[in-house]
Amino acid sequence: MRTIILCLTIIIFSSLNAQISHSDAAVQLKNKGLKDLAAFEMLKDLTANVGHRLSGSAGYEKAVVWGKNALVKAGADSVWLEPVMIPKWVRGNVEKATASSAGRKYELTVCALGGSVGTSKEGVSGEVIEVHSFDEVKALGEKLKGKIIFYNRPFDKTKVNPGEAYGGAVNQRTSGAIEAAKAGAIGVLVRSMTNAIDDEPHTGAMRYVDSIPKIPAAAVSTIDANILSEVLKKERSVMVTLQLSAKTFPDVPSYNVIGELRGTEYPKEIIVVGGHLDSWDKGTGAHDDGSGIVQSIEVLRLIKSLNVRPKRTIRAVLYANEENGLKGGKAYAARESRLNEKHIAAIESDAGGFLPHGFGVSTDSIKYEKIRSYASLLEIVGAEKIHKGGGGADISTLQSLGTVQIGLDPDSQRYFDYHHSNNDTIDKVHPRELELGAIAMSILIWGISQDGL
Ligand SMILES: [Zn+2]
Repeated sequence: MRTIILCLTIIIFSSLNAQISHSDAAVQLKNKGLKDLAAFEMLKDLTANVGHRLSGSAGYEKAVVWGKNALVKAGADSVWLEPVMIPKWVRGNVEKATASSAGRKYELTVCALGGSVGTSKEGVSGEVIEVHSFDEVKALGEKLKGKIIFYNRPFDKTKVNPGEAYGGAVNQRTSGAIEAAKAGAIGVLVRSMTNAIDDEPHTGAMRYVDSIPKIPAAAVSTIDANILSEVLKKERSVMVTLQLSAKTFPDVPSYNVIGELRGTEYPKEIIVVGGHLDSWDKGTGAHDDGSGIVQSIEVLRLIKSLNVRPKRTIRAVLYANEENGLKGGKAYAARESRLNEKHIAAIESDAGGFLPHGFGVSTDSIKYEKIRSYASLLEIVGAEKIHKGGGGADISTLQSLGTVQIGLDPDSQRYFDYHHSNNDTIDKVHPRELELGAIAMSILIWGISQDGL
């Protein structure tokens, strides 16, 4: 009996420490992933049973419990919560904008931008002035006093990557209210941040500064932005009444959710993989960032299925509050226990669950070349395009620890059609495309976990 136990122990021990070539691991990860399509099953569960999960909402608290259970189910060695204070902003039921000119009225499809103040019940009313830049706002100066500013600079359609077009337009949403209020405006309408022409407003974070009056700000659908712009060309004066019931409450306590597979040889060397657990309160955050969440959990499940322990620790972090504060990413990096750990690489998936093309990498040239050497392994899932420059908002907080920043690069064409709107739902996610992203991350992470950086 004792001999049998000893033999079994040896077999188990040697299998745990068995070696596997990177290319064999890549094939196994691919096959397991594509057979099970487990990332999509998780995403169905998250979107159906939790739904949207804005920071400070009951949905987010449900998501914390969901994330913890999903990490346990995926086979993480340990799962835990790390506390973080997060904002609580509530949209409320009223978001309404009515334009009127020459005796005619038009209802505009709007939604409050995240963080906006609300209005009185009657709303704010004023003449609408269309602008396309902050320079224009400055040039108009006094003429904007008491007016409602309509920012209508569209995405630059000539950009191949809509993410770049987003970057060129999004300051209207984030800082438009500040610039408008400096000129004495009383409210802001912002063209939705998308190339799509439809009737869904896209929300997203906006900010204020304490020294400048806080004026209400709403996104308007691209169809209604175009209509309003046409009306403004024809009519001498168009009035808008904007009513919002949004409200900010004091911050509330919540959590980042974390699970890991512990490394056998260098457990204190950590490779982080993550996305953000919060979402906006439109749609169900299926792409943004439910996809990144389920892919990160799936990485642990797939690597566990190799039945070979990683040499370095692989940690999935489901960050709180990326969308309107980045409090989760900041709290994770600032935690005292991080000082005893060495975060060698951090990989983020927060660009949608679309077909992966490769990875963007921010690091020095030596480490960059090391990461690029995995391109031939990634060919198996068509994710071999590795380029300089990349990462993500949540992992950017680890930059000060010298962590290599890596962002999963999925196809970018449809992301902003859905982003931060009611369009971001599970039916827009393709099970195999989503899974291929998780497999690509697993292959890369497995390589790094065995070789170091
Ligand atoms: Zn996101």
